Amino acid sequence: MTILAPASAPPTPEVLSPDTASAGLNFGLSDDQRLIVQTVREFCQAKVAPLSAEYDRSGEYPREQLRGLAELGLMGATVPGAWGGAGLDSVTYALCLEEISAADASVAVIVSVQNGLPEQMLLKYGTDAQRERYLRPLATGEALGAFCLTESNSGSDAASLRMKATREGSHDQPGGWILDGSKSWITSGNQADTYLVMARTGGAGARGVSCFIVERGTPGLGFGKPEEKLGLHAAHTTTVSFDSVRVPEGNMLGQEGQGLNIALSCLDAGRIGIAMQAVGIARAAFEHAARYALSREQFGRPIAENQGVSFKVADMAARIEGARLVALKAAWLKDVGQPYGREASIAKLLASEAAVDVTREAIQVFGGNGYSREYPVERLYRDAKITEIYEGTSEIQRVVISRSVFAEFGG
Ligand SMILES: Cc1cc2nc3c(=O)[nH]c(=O)nc-3n(C[C@H](O)[C@H](O)[C@H](O)COP(=O)(O)OP(=O)(O)OC[C@H]3O[C@@H](n4cnc5c(N)ncnc54)[C@H](O)[C@@H]3O)c2cc1C
Repeated sequence: MTILAPASAPPTPEVLSPDTASAGLNFGLSDDQRLIVQTVREFCQAKVAPLSAEYDRSGEYPREQLRGLAELGLMGATVPGAWGGAGLDSVTYALCLEEISAADASVAVIVSVQNGLPEQMLLKYGTDAQRERYLRPLATGEALGAFCLTESNSGSDAASLRMKATREGSHDQPGGWILDGSKSWITSGNQADTYLVMARTGGAGARGVSCFIVERGTPGLGFGKPEEKLGLHAAHTTTVSFDSVRVPEGNMLGQEGQGLNIALSCLDAGRIGIAMQAVGIARAAFEHAARYALSREQFGRPIAENQGVSFKVADMAARIEGARLVALKAAWLKDVGQPYGREASIAKLLASEAAVDVTREAIQVFGGNGYSREYPVERLYRDAKITEIYEGTSEIQRVVISRSVFAEFGG
């Protein structure tokens, strides 16, 4: 199979000749990558997808599904084996995330946050002691992580966050930190064992922010009820509150004042994850729509025989293929150690807008049935919308992309 083929297609042999590969562009996957993605697809279709409608209705947190994914190594997909992870490359992980998302977008966001944010932050900036205590249990799936950046008055403008961390003792004899404030919209806020929290240790702006590791059960740490959301019902999102929460000196991640940089640098990788979440949601809607168009008859023939319907399916295929390709390019750039921030933003922008459009059009193909909870496309439509908002809204992606473009032109 090539990475450009519809991911639901059965595996096929490599299609690119050695000549094409040596020309510097190779869309082929290795045998190992194909096997991993196939295994994850089979697991997700058998164990995750059949539960997604029920979990959407009940709002139950998908512990069982996460346990299964942990057994496959996907709760620490790109973390090296030395720290308990599966050691996958970013391209393979991205394709796995597509499979999880096509089965259940709520499960996918929990996996994406865990892999992309707390784990990457600990891996890149943690000491060995922090990695041993916090990264290893996250990577094996024994523990769950939460990323705490957003506040009620600080979303897109993350540098304006107000949560306070006050030093106990002195610089010469540090006694740890006391955290006070509240975070909003935290994925797994009520379920996590390890919280990565951005708080203000210095003056205004980005340089005044540091990052802390806070353990569940620390006195003063609390969380609200799951927010009632349009979609992603099984992925709980809550406020997390800090009332004089004491954090030992050793639980600062990186250096004092480095917290926002740590968070934002990992959000670049997180955006590839959200792009693949969007691709997975869109693919699921597209597959349902294509099958339905072939089976539903009106005027004595399948509705697929009307160009008005078949062109919708064609546009869905094109949007998904394009979005997947850009997201995988960003993942590949990450794997080969090249800058990928702009590509990650482009991927998130294109994929999330594709997901919203594709799921909306899938409802149209289903007609009245598409509007019903009896069919999966209405859930996919509700789940798709958030991909345009979290980990940087579409507008913020356009800010990032345009800044990068103007920088090239000397702006
Ligand atoms: C389900 C869900 C899960 C989430 N999970 C987490 C999590 O785990 N951890 C976490 O820290 N946060 C999380 N968030 C928060 C999320 O990242 C923020 O909602 C997002 O960054 C947008 O911030 P905001 O909601 O404050 O919107 P605002 O920043 O208030 O933006 C409102 C509108 O103004 C636009 N806007 C703002 N600034 C500009 C600008 N400069 N130019 C153009 N347009 C602009 C925005 O694009 C948007 O359309 C989650 C949110 C949701 C809904």
